[in-house]
Amino acid sequence: MELATEPDTYSPNIDDKGNYIDKVPSFHTNALANGLRCPCGTRKDKVYTSHAMFTAHIKTKTHEKWLQDLNTNRANFYIENQKLKDIVHSQKIMIGKLELELTNKNMTIDYLTQQLVKINIPSTLTSSSSNMNRNDSSANDMIMFDI
Ligand SMILES: [Zn+2]
Repeated sequence: MELATEPDTYSPNIDDKGNYIDKVPSFHTNALANGLRCPCGTRKDKVYTSHAMFTAHIKTKTHEKWLQDLNTNRANFYIENQKLKDIVHSQKIMIGKLELELTNKNMTIDYLTQQLVKINIPSTLTSSSSNMNRNDSSANDMIMFDI
């Protein structure tokens, strides 16, 4: 069974010292059935479909610099990741509160709409019957002219 329809995105491995290192994945797995994209930005939409192609790619200057930058900014990524986790957590709470508020407001709107319909039914009948009267009188006027 094959589920992947998009190319997978490459992510480097981490060695025992915590450094990002390149490791060319096996292209014989279902995960890479649609190829592999590299986020280093050398060739943005390029999809690599073989071990040999990707091995050649990781030796390019842009890819090597990208990996070097990842290692240089490693500590910052950790801090950034913690901040993002906090933001996601507080936004989940905010969304929960807003959903509750929305449900309450929808219930209020439904209730008030029902009340409004109840109040408006008699006046709707009156106004439509007065319209009918007006129509009748103009119809009578027409009849009188015809005669
Ligand atoms: Zn790359």
